[in-house]
Amino acid sequence: MKKVHVFNAGPCLLPQVAIDNAIAAMKDFSGTGISVLSISHRTKEWDAVMDECRALWKELLHIPDTHEVVFLGGGASLQFLYVAMNYLEKKAAYLDTGVWAHKALKEAQGIGDAYAIACSKDKNYTYIPKGFEIPADLDYLHITTNNTIYGTEIHEDIDCPCPLIADMSSDIMSRPVDVSKYDLIYGGAQKNVGPAGVIFAIIKKDSLGRVSRYIPTMLDYRTHIDKLSMFNTPPVFAIFVMNETLKWLKSIGGVEAMYEINKKKAALLYDEIDRNSMFVGTAVKEDRSLMNVCFVMAPGKEELQDEFFAFAKECGMVGIKGHRSVGGFRASLYNACSVEDVQALVDCMKEFEALKK
Ligand SMILES: *Cc1c(COP(=O)(O)O)cnc(C)c1O
Repeated sequence: MKKVHVFNAGPCLLPQVAIDNAIAAMKDFSGTGISVLSISHRTKEWDAVMDECRALWKELLHIPDTHEVVFLGGGASLQFLYVAMNYLEKKAAYLDTGVWAHKALKEAQGIGDAYAIACSKDKNYTYIPKGFEIPADLDYLHITTNNTIYGTEIHEDIDCPCPLIADMSSDIMSRPVDVSKYDLIYGGAQKNVGPAGVIFAIIKKDSLGRVSRYIPTMLDYRTHIDKLSMFNTPPVFAIFVMNETLKWLKSIGGVEAMYEINKKKAALLYDEIDRNSMFVGTAVKEDRSLMNVCFVMAPGKEELQDEFFAFAKECGMVGIKGHRSVGGFRASLYNACSVEDVQALVDCMKEFEALKK
């Protein structure tokens, strides 16, 4: 196979060991003689995977006993509705930092009173709004910690006078998080912790039950906490691969060790973007994402864009096209992307500059 470097924004690159173990389990799951694709989720062998996966989440993110983690289907996009159904009573605020944040807000507005507390659309979401006042009487403030499409990230767990809810689809497990500051953290697994088909929700248990509406059984987080994510058939295979991905993360030293590697990878690429006369970054420096690095051709070099795409493809770079709403380039440096992958992209950018100068 040709050596390729995968920078896809999602579904993400996964560690090879997780894929190898998934292949083995497709043939024979846990010595049962049955494929993981056909195993009943009501078996002790499957229970062991669920237990291990839950335990790994708690261990890797230091989730306190006040919180529980559940795994569900429906994508992060369905969580936008879960959030409003489970938490919106009087009024909620959303920090509008991009397409995903905006979609989350829109979903809440179909349920109740929700508004954008601040918005960075004026500059095509290239920065994180700051300095806005958060009313303490809100049901919650919703933030999107990493804006996958624009390459901006909220790097710290903010102090919030009201309950805080975060979509962490694309930076979960990339850096340490103080889970105790959040009533809810959720996201799709496919950006950093597994394949598509499963979401995680880390829920502060006593934050539930505050709304007066009827919540349909499947949309009620309490259903899934009570039944340990097995109220109905869970996405078995996706959870299996997520568990293998977390085992790999633990084996390399956990989230803290991963964070150091992620900082190194991002610095490597941003330094090159800033140095290289062919390219410029699009996000403001202080809000640059460690996970999704967005850049465009430098002013005056725009006509070279297609040439660079072709050149990068020749060098084995995959998935560096920017989102259609932004254009240019985006390299996603999720956990399974290695320093060597990033170095290969940097070398490719250097070569292109030398060729064109
Ligand atoms: C990809 C993404 C989503 C949507 O995830 P789906 O699982 O496709 O619904 C939501 N929020 C963020 C931040 C994302 O990156």
